[in-house]
Amino acid sequence: MLDSEWAVAWVKAAAASVAEHKMELIELDRVIGDGDHGENLDRGFQAVLAKLETNFETPGEVFKLLAMTLMSVVGGAAGPLYGTAFLRAATAAGEASALNSDQLATVLAAARDGIVARGKAEPGDKTMVDAWTPAVEAADEAVENGLSPEEVLTAAAAAAEQGATDTEPLQARKGRASYLGERSIGHRDPGAQSTALILRCAASTAR
Ligand code: ADP
Ligand code: MG
Ligand code: MG
Repeated sequence: MLDSEWAVAWVKAAAASVAEHKMELIELDRVIGDGDHGENLDRGFQAVLAKLETNFETPGEVFKLLAMTLMSVVGGAAGPLYGTAFLRAATAAGEASALNSDQLATVLAAARDGIVARGKAEPGDKTMVDAWTPAVEAADEAVENGLSPEEVLTAAAAAAEQGATDTEPLQARKGRASYLGERSIGHRDPGAQSTALILRCAASTAR
């Protein structure tokens, strides 16, 4: 059930995953950016962990806390982008005590749309949008096929991972990596990779 307990478990798992993969994210960002993505995101998720002791009634409340914390702690491009994503997710989740498949797909789409509204990147620009967009599409398809919320999340996570891999041959057209022009080709986008990690944790904590 995708209730507030799940949302808390997801944030904890995401914090652990970002910490575990911190050096890998730093390395990806060092090659086509300024090398701070792993550090910044880890600082943000550790800050959220410290605030998880209160009781939450809905997943939306957890998304909102995550959004506000990432926005104020992470900085750079990713802080406001993830912040907007999870704030939109919170609004889309509304007062629901647990998300059904339909609501989940709506929440994922709202998060992706928030990133696009904020950063103006299109699919193929080699950003986190290239992980979020296939995730949203896979979720929509899973909903059409009548799958459970847990199965919808699993499909979304797998698509995000594929999307992150698929950023490698792309040339960056947004963010810091775009300054490299053609030299950004052949490297995975760090924000797409962190999106894949975060969505994988959402799926693995769903029961
Ligand atoms: P900064 O580039 O400010 O150091 P980070 O390193 O934390 O910020 O985040 C970089 C990531 O942010 C990129 O890998 C990319 O996925 C994402 N990003 C940058 N600009 C945009 C944008 N305009 N739209 C969507 N995502 C973006
Ligand atoms: Mg950076
Ligand atoms: Mg930076």
